[in-house]
Amino acid sequence: MQASEVIKAWGKILKGEPPSLSIEITKECPLRCPGCYAYEPAHLGGEVTLRSLTDRKGDALVEGVLEIVDRIKPLHLSLVGGDPLVRYRELEVMVPMILARGTHVQVVTSAFRQLPQGWKDLPHLNVVVSIDGLQPEHDERRAPATYERILKSIAGSRVTIHCTITGQMMKRPGYLREFLEFWTPRAEIN
Ligand code: SF4
Repeated sequence: MQASEVIKAWGKILKGEPPSLSIEITKECPLRCPGCYAYEPAHLGGEVTLRSLTDRKGDALVEGVLEIVDRIKPLHLSLVGGDPLVRYRELEVMVPMILARGTHVQVVTSAFRQLPQGWKDLPHLNVVVSIDGLQPEHDERRAPATYERILKSIAGSRVTIHCTITGQMMKRPGYLREFLEFWTPRAEIN
């Protein structure tokens, strides 16, 4: 982050405006991760649950997200789910429109499907792929977004890898080093 962006963020905070915003654009997800909290009763504050809501789709979703961005004007917007790539058609439309408004965009996904090819050339877009450890542990937890599927999905793209470090991983010496040795040299990885 550049100094000018830090100053901008502080300016918004001092005015009482949020510099950063996260929107769950869909409740749908093809994964069934153990420990997923998205569908827990308390996830949305307790009054409604994710399963009781209906997704917006198509133009209604794109317009809804743009309305929020225009109203709140965040410097940074995370698009999450469920898995936001379930709505990949809408994402392909909305992401360039949000970037054109000067907002940095992050898309957090399991990479269960191929990323839009044009995304790698978009400045200020960060695609984050969640990976839960090395292949045996990850594939068991996060099928159908297995290592094999992720490698196909990110081919030719640029992504950031996020990994939740668990106590289980720390029991095996060298686990994290192996993880980094697998992912760090790949051309797709930021
Ligand atoms: S990818 Fe995320 S939303 Fe989907 S099941 Fe896993 S933790 Fe839950």
